[in-house]
Amino acid sequence: MSLLEPPSFASFADLEREALACTECPLAATRTRVVFGVGDPHADLLFVGEGPGEREDLTGEPFVGRAGRLLTSLIEGIGLSRGQVYIANVVKCRPPGNRDPLPLEIETCRPYLQAQVEFIDPRVVVTLGNFATKLLLSTKEGITKLRGREFPFRDHAVLIPVFHPSAVLRNGGTALAEARADFVTVKRALARETRSP
Ligand code: URA
Repeated sequence: MSLLEPPSFASFADLEREALACTECPLAATRTRVVFGVGDPHADLLFVGEGPGEREDLTGEPFVGRAGRLLTSLIEGIGLSRGQVYIANVVKCRPPGNRDPLPLEIETCRPYLQAQVEFIDPRVVVTLGNFATKLLLSTKEGITKLRGREFPFRDHAVLIPVFHPSAVLRNGGTALAEARADFVTVKRALARETRSP
């Protein structure tokens, strides 16, 4: 994929194939596996994290480490399984040492996430933490102000920022209670957005 051409992928499988072979940014040199995303590509609910950590880099699957176990339990807490949603990240390759992704890496990887959003066409998007929230909402506002609120997204979807599970693990107590409350907001939004007229 050239950065000068608008990305066009014939199918979701094509998109995944291209992403798995991507060498467009320096993260390609240090990654073990590309972490494209997992779940149901027709899901109504899409989660977007920041980028793969060590375990994700080794396994090729997003959110399988400690933060991933917390995310899975929050998803299960609203009556869903990982297989019923889709889970992706802003950057598909691990930033070395788990550093923050750089603006160039985010921008280079953006067409993959954008195409995932277009193919999946979710009704509710949950951004996990600052990076996904800032990118998808085009805002500079921080997660603490935005979390748990609903924002219109694309033509017919809503976006709900929540704390990143790693931040919840770091901060514990109140952050966990707030994350649980935000997932209840997600559950309600999903019921409303997927109700047939
Ligand atoms: N944190 C993320 O943002 N994404 C992952 O896949 C794992 C941890």
